[in-house]
Amino acid sequence: MMSVYKHSVSLDAEKCKGCTACLKRCPTEAIRIHDGHAVINSVRCIDCGECIKVCSSKAKKATHDSLSVLNDYKYTVALPAPSFYGQFDNLDNIGYIIKGLHDIGFDDVFEVACAAELVSAYTRKYINREDIKKPVISSACPAITRIISMNYPYLCENIMPILPPIDIAAMLAKEKAMREHPELDEADIGIIFISPCPAKVSYVKNNFAGERNYVSATVSVRDVYFALLDVMKRGEEDPIENTEAGVVGIGWASTGGESTAILNDRYLAADGIENCIRVLDRIDSSDIHNLDFVELNACNGGCVGGAMTVANPYIAQARLKSLRRYLPVSPNRPASDWIPDKYFQEKQVEYNPYSALSSDRKTAMRMMRDIEEITKKLPGLDCGSCGAPTCMAFAEDIVKKETCADECTVILRRILREKGIGKELFYSEIDLPDCRNNNEENGDDGK
Ligand code: SF4
Ligand code: SF4
Repeated sequence: MMSVYKHSVSLDAEKCKGCTACLKRCPTEAIRIHDGHAVINSVRCIDCGECIKVCSSKAKKATHDSLSVLNDYKYTVALPAPSFYGQFDNLDNIGYIIKGLHDIGFDDVFEVACAAELVSAYTRKYINREDIKKPVISSACPAITRIISMNYPYLCENIMPILPPIDIAAMLAKEKAMREHPELDEADIGIIFISPCPAKVSYVKNNFAGERNYVSATVSVRDVYFALLDVMKRGEEDPIENTEAGVVGIGWASTGGESTAILNDRYLAADGIENCIRVLDRIDSSDIHNLDFVELNACNGGCVGGAMTVANPYIAQARLKSLRRYLPVSPNRPASDWIPDKYFQEKQVEYNPYSALSSDRKTAMRMMRDIEEITKKLPGLDCGSCGAPTCMAFAEDIVKKETCADECTVILRRILREKGIGKELFYSEIDLPDCRNNNEENGDDGK
């Protein structure tokens, strides 16, 4: 049985004005407007957070743990994502952040960037194997792996089977805490990921690392940033603590960082969900050759562009560039040439299509024909006023009996006008002048 996907992106219907901004932005056509407000189709949603970014009414939100989760454990370890460091202005030493995280209540900090350096080292080995399907596609962005699992059955095998840095960091952080504090039970230790985006929150919620999911809770970069601003403003002396990540690990925060670390120029790095979809389409149709590695980030600029960050992604990128000047290249290296089994995914990403019209092939073909026929009869404006993002999506909804054709306001208005129906009713209901009547009264025929 297919398990239910736990989403982190949700809607506050009270705040939604039905403006259609999110409807038009959603890359998977997961949103419809019904009864004046947005509705998210949970099968299609990849938790990319694009709808959060465009909603000026703040009706879309990412659900994650609050910082009070620290009280649920006897011992807590913060896992800051590399993009977290790009949120702070005038930062020349990550040690200030590590110290700040201790000050707001974490007992220890394990930088995800350290695990990213290990993953980079393992990736260099992995992509040289003869027995794998190329190009290898990075598994770091969960919005990308989800869209592959829904739309690209032949690319599921290309997804790198090594666990992403978040899982390896969590695993190492837990092992360290248990080693250093044998008096603690495993359940006493909270491994708290500081996430830049809702897709990573959902990744943790859905337990993609299986038995090896060591992340206990996920808080947002935004919440921790504001909590940290208070303590970092105090201007205490000597706030520096040891930091362990290098240029390579911090580089994962923005597009191209993961790719350059593989030390192989047969790579492609893209960001922004539309660009990523275009690249996937090209790989799927065997249109791109001679690539060993593909890095795709759903957010513009990479993880620095996540919907749960504070800083503009390009400003964050610039800050990280200057911060990296003070760091060693890659201090975290694997102990041996061998990639430990525990760092591999338990199972391959599975194809889970969202677009199937029917499990019966004949019925699906008939429905496809109906969609084409209905689409031809629609205005082709893709205006969104019917509540679907495009005329074709609206036709699909009609065929699936999820809406009715009379929701198309363009056709409805044309028919009412042609038949002269409803004009008096309209002006009797609304306090607006009837300009056509005015023109007639003024003897103005509009010429
Ligand atoms: S962007 Fe979407 S969620 Fe926000 S107000 Fe408009 S329709 Fe509602
Ligand atoms: S999170 Fe992304 S996929 Fe989900 S509804 Fe919003 S824009 Fe669409």
